[in-house]
Amino acid sequence: MLNFTSVCKDYGSRRALDNLTFDIQAGEIYGLLGPNGSGKTTTINLICHLLEADQGSITLMNQPLSDKTKVWLGVAPQENLLYRSLSCQENLDFFGKIYGLGRKKCRERIDWCLDVVNLTNRAHSAVDTLSGGMQRRLNLAIALIHQPKLLILDEPTTGLDLETRHDLWQLIETLRAEGMTILLTTHLLDEAQRLCDRIGILKEGVLLQQGSLAELRQVIPAQEILLLKTPAEDQAIAQATRLGWQHRRYGQELVFWLPESLELREILALLDPIPVESISRQAIQLEHIYLELVQSKIQ
Ligand code: ADP
Ligand code: MG
Repeated sequence: MLNFTSVCKDYGSRRALDNLTFDIQAGEIYGLLGPNGSGKTTTINLICHLLEADQGSITLMNQPLSDKTKVWLGVAPQENLLYRSLSCQENLDFFGKIYGLGRKKCRERIDWCLDVVNLTNRAHSAVDTLSGGMQRRLNLAIALIHQPKLLILDEPTTGLDLETRHDLWQLIETLRAEGMTILLTTHLLDEAQRLCDRIGILKEGVLLQQGSLAELRQVIPAQEILLLKTPAEDQAIAQATRLGWQHRRYGQELVFWLPESLELREILALLDPIPVESISRQAIQLEHIYLELVQSKIQ
């Protein structure tokens, strides 16, 4: 569906994207993750043909990007793009006309879009009277008005409360079930883990790793993560190292990578006589993989 091959983009002497190669398959949700300044927005602006790549090639549906390929994209920007005094229906109608939809087609699409984002009963309400979550859903509906082939969601739930985020997640999952292909950028790891079929992790314009969560798990050669609180950290690290357990520090937290699944009592026996204040095991999460790739390790 979308292909990036060895794409470089510089702003003056600053390299924003360095040899970026990735592809998005039809029907999947691809998540682009990365800290601020890693190149996510630059990637979106290239796809939208607002910027030109300095090197490499980008194709959408096997065609080089052009003004023509733009109409295959639906973009829900990070900042809502809505006319606040117009109703939901009027906003959708405005954007439908921009895309040149005929009157009948436009009406059909408005009904479909309002339904999918669950705003049919607020069709005639002015944007100003809607809650933050409803406005966010309308922002997304507008991106769908012209039946795009690729939907781009830039930080779709940033700044929303937890309940509203869950609503949006359900909506995105509904769209996937309808067969929509989605590129999503986020810095929220739980969001990426829940929604994305594949994830690419960007840092300073370089794609550090990409794949499904199962593939990304290979970054950490362990079965589980052990969190340990002890007054004798140096001693614990030395003992764990002898056992072949690598360690990391995530902020204040000391963790070990367990190469095999062990019962807690087996772990305690192996750590004996180290004093243990608290101990727990955790499955490997995207968060751990992300930290491993993006943060410099303190060993
Ligand atoms: P992200 O969206 O992941 O936060 P961006 O794509 O916005 O990252 O930025 C990538 C890098 O390019 C950053 O170092 C940023 O400062 C730089 N950058 C982005 N836009 C411009 C611009 N218009 N002019 C100069 N530098 C830019
Ligand atoms: Mg950005």
